[in-house]
Amino acid sequence: VEIGTTLLSAKQLLMQFGGLKALNQVDLNIVKGSVHGLIGPNGSGKSTMMNVLTGIYKPTAGVVEFNGKVISGSTPSAIALGGVARTFQNVQLFGEMTATENVLVGLHHTFQSNGADVMFHTRRYKQEEQAARVRAASILQFVGLADLANEEARNLPYGKQRLLEIGRALGLNPELLLLDEPAAGLTAPDIVELIAIIHKIREHGITIILIEHHMDVVMTISDTVTVLDFGQKIAEGKPAAVQADPAVIEAYLGG
Ligand code: ADP
Ligand code: MG
Repeated sequence: VEIGTTLLSAKQLLMQFGGLKALNQVDLNIVKGSVHGLIGPNGSGKSTMMNVLTGIYKPTAGVVEFNGKVISGSTPSAIALGGVARTFQNVQLFGEMTATENVLVGLHHTFQSNGADVMFHTRRYKQEEQAARVRAASILQFVGLADLANEEARNLPYGKQRLLEIGRALGLNPELLLLDEPAAGLTAPDIVELIAIIHKIREHGITIILIEHHMDVVMTISDTVTVLDFGQKIAEGKPAAVQADPAVIEAYLGG
């Protein structure tokens, strides 16, 4: 991974819901190989930013480029297959499927096999399915869920469900991973495990955008932090500088 080059850039993003500007002329530059924290009080536009970057919302104005190509306007699945994976603020797993099956759902999106291959179980399909099972096992191992591979997602402890979500996103083999409040609802030991996994993901060269409410988590992991307030960027920089910024302190205390 080349350090210092831009992986994703958003320019002058505007996301309007009726009269509300959930994002108001926001620029964002994500450096390859970095962990980029995105923080701000409740309702400041963080999840909206995720939804715009992943194509769930089409911005009212502005543009998002990934690897130098415009992706704003593309569909969520095209963006995901193009290398941008995400988890959601609220867990979105298939509860009655096992951990393995949840990861396989993500992997199936990457298959080359067409409908006929699947229907007739062609050799191509069988090879892809076999490779996907091997990969699902290694992903579950990576996120510490190897022992729980055959458990239904709904029966996993909450912290493990969050890790499974990350595993499913990794199945897309992303270049950029967006995590929306991954530590929400986690116990202190769960958070320690989560931080270790985020570090491991980063060591694999995957760039991360981290939305997080737990300030200590963001400040520990992030290389750069961007702060939103009422849809506007109010601060950006290294964690220590951002944390000491009067505008940031005011946004949190005044909110
Ligand atoms: P955060 O994730 O920082 O807590 P959000 O991005 O979820 O904030 O929300 C930012 C603002 O945009 C809030 O005022 C929220 O109510 C509003 N908002 C978000 N999504 C929608 C939507 N689909 N329709 C209308 N308003 C929305
Ligand atoms: Mg949110």
